[in-house]
Amino acid sequence: RRRKYAALRDLPSTTRDQARVSLNMNAGLLIDMQHLDDTGADGVGLYRTEIPFMVRSEFPDVDAQAWLYGRVLDLADGRPVTFRTLDVGGDKVLPYIDSFGDENPAMGWRAIRIGLDRPAMLRRQLRAMIMAASGRPLSIMFPMIAEVTELLRARHLLDLELDRAKRRGQPVPEGVRVGVMFEVPALAWQLDSLLPHVDFISVGTNDLMQFLYAADRGNSRLAGRYDSLSPALLRLLHFVVNKVRPAGVDISVCGEMAGRPVEALALLAVGVRSLSMSPGAIGPVKAMIRSLDLNEVVGFMSSALTQPDRPLRETLRLFAADHAI
Ligand code: PEP
Ligand code: MG
Repeated sequence: RRRKYAALRDLPSTTRDQARVSLNMNAGLLIDMQHLDDTGADGVGLYRTEIPFMVRSEFPDVDAQAWLYGRVLDLADGRPVTFRTLDVGGDKVLPYIDSFGDENPAMGWRAIRIGLDRPAMLRRQLRAMIMAASGRPLSIMFPMIAEVTELLRARHLLDLELDRAKRRGQPVPEGVRVGVMFEVPALAWQLDSLLPHVDFISVGTNDLMQFLYAADRGNSRLAGRYDSLSPALLRLLHFVVNKVRPAGVDISVCGEMAGRPVEALALLAVGVRSLSMSPGAIGPVKAMIRSLDLNEVVGFMSSALTQPDRPLRETLRLFAADHAI
């Protein structure tokens, strides 16, 4: 099987009816970057910057961060990388940030909420990214955005840092793309005001499922209870994709769901054309894509979504089996 996937590495990620799907990988450590070559991924759709922070005993300074982000870009060697700003708090605790005491950490003081309350910390991270990407494209996304104003405030901090670099005559990135993670359901009803301010949206289905079903993603008693292939989640994604794509804003999915072939099939069926996943999932997902007739599955899904509320997993599995996917 391994060999079968290795043989796919240099083949395009295109469906039988010639729809191109962008396949990217998630990373968080420098060592992950080697998988860009061995998987043939298009780029890094999610670089989790908190991972290197978690192994240290104090907050890395701007130079240390800039070195790290620069190495990531060097190793990507021109392939696009999307850096997510710190997503700590909740289950990802840093010894040097006091976020203890939250009763519901996943819904507590975490991610962009910390960044906006501790703007000096977020600004240092953005400054490091700007330094690291001088003369190269830079793509930044903010996690756990729940209101448009949070994105606007984060963008403002980024603008302050870009101005600072220019004022000092420092080189700046060649084009900066800004996006948000769609993890909080409330954002679905703010897209009209959000879309003019972002270049892309990346759906974090791990947190989105958790908040949509009010089900702790780390609680083993709930692990099999709600299916990500439910009409509720897929209808929500279908709605979001149909709002986002016509506005010329890119949309991709970077939650674990994107790396499971049947789930990835469902994501394509609701209109997603860009996925980011753990490196090991790229081969199996690419194999699925290359055996898929996208038109057929889009038609199948649009009728499946109008069916009574029952999980679509079995239906999709049968579809895949029937079509030799
Ligand atoms: C997600 O929530 O789906 C996601 C990709 O982010 P993380 O798993 O790091 O919370
Ligand atoms: Mg998340």
